[in-house]
Amino acid sequence: MFEAVAVPSEATHKACPHTISMAFLYADTGGGHRASALAVKQAIDANYPGVVTALLIDPTIENHSSIIRKSDSLYRACIRSTPWIWAALFHVTNHRSTVWFMRRTVLHTLSSSARKGAGKADFDAIVSFHPLLSHAARHVADRASQRAIAATVMTDLIDPHASWAHVKMDAVFVPNASSAEKLIGLGVHADRLHRVGLPVGPQFVQSPTSLRQPARARDVLGLDDRFTVLLVGGGEGAGGLYRKARALLRRCPDIQVCVIAGRNKRLLRRLELLAGRSGERLRPIGFVDNMAQWMGAADLVVTKAGPGTIAEALAVGAPLLITGHLRGQERRNPDFVAIGGAGFRERRMGRMVARIQQLERHPEQLEQFVWSTRLLARPQAANEIADTLVSLVRARRATEQDSAMRSALSS
Ligand code: UDP
Repeated sequence: MFEAVAVPSEATHKACPHTISMAFLYADTGGGHRASALAVKQAIDANYPGVVTALLIDPTIENHSSIIRKSDSLYRACIRSTPWIWAALFHVTNHRSTVWFMRRTVLHTLSSSARKGAGKADFDAIVSFHPLLSHAARHVADRASQRAIAATVMTDLIDPHASWAHVKMDAVFVPNASSAEKLIGLGVHADRLHRVGLPVGPQFVQSPTSLRQPARARDVLGLDDRFTVLLVGGGEGAGGLYRKARALLRRCPDIQVCVIAGRNKRLLRRLELLAGRSGERLRPIGFVDNMAQWMGAADLVVTKAGPGTIAEALAVGAPLLITGHLRGQERRNPDFVAIGGAGFRERRMGRMVARIQQLERHPEQLEQFVWSTRLLARPQAANEIADTLVSLVRARRATEQDSAMRSALSS
């Protein structure tokens, strides 16, 4: 796994007629934006080596006072302990007029940070993976010496915030028809929308004929080969993971519980203490770079309704138990999983434990979910986004060459 590239203050990409360079803007509000940007970069690196380069830029790194930097910390604090504050903020700002006002005021400073992040480079495409960065992407693209493509890759699943809708983007990549409809309602042209799915890295992608092999994955990770539940809560380890792990250890004496605490260091410390009293059945883990392996080792992934985690579990073929959602952008994600048959939702702890006990006794019931994951998964999304971006840049270059030729011939 490669590392995200932090903002170089003076990026040095040089536009060359035969190569294409792209900048991907993201921010660490949760883990999903960075994961999606990395997935598309991985697709570019694999499919266009030496021809296309993609640079990851977090414009908030050098702009500590930026609204996104503040919303990152707010998101972190809110989703761990006061999700209602996040829900209130989401609803208050979820209007075209509020977004319009934000773009002309607080979001404006990010455009100059993004431009600084891009340095002297002349990118052919600037792609935003964050709802509050599309404006900056358009701004940087418009100031390139040659006209550049500005695009957005939406990382919400069903119910996007109004700030994802930027009517001046050349392309907007969305996960499905519901999100496309919502953006059309917010003024985005239908012909700029590409319904490709939510991008996941190649490590999550199974071959269409291969069967899941949790036992082998458990062996690689040094886990016991027994019924394994993976608890995840996005990049911030949200969703009451400690209480869930404790309840499962108490009431399901034969299962193994792995908990990915993400960046939540306090949760990790508490889990480590609990692990000391749990006879090797609890595996507490901090932020991991090999989520695909952990998901591959699990019989069931128990999580909040994070879009990135859902898309990854579907790609890996792991059944999902959704125990909650962040009010706002995750509101309808549990239905997406349950109606699609790739898992189920259960908020109450008692019922959650009872369903897991049942599945442990009847693992064949999980098979139905596993098959449905294949129908819902969009494992090629990252490749399709990469290909479309490259085609758009090439088409634009061809148009520019044509018009240059025409004016040369007519003069
Ligand atoms: N993630 C990760 N390592 C961790 C925890 C999470 O790479 O230790 C990734 C996870 O694989 C997913 C993203 O963080 O890609 C979480 O995205 P999601 O949309 O589920 O939730 P968010 O954190 O954005 O609220």
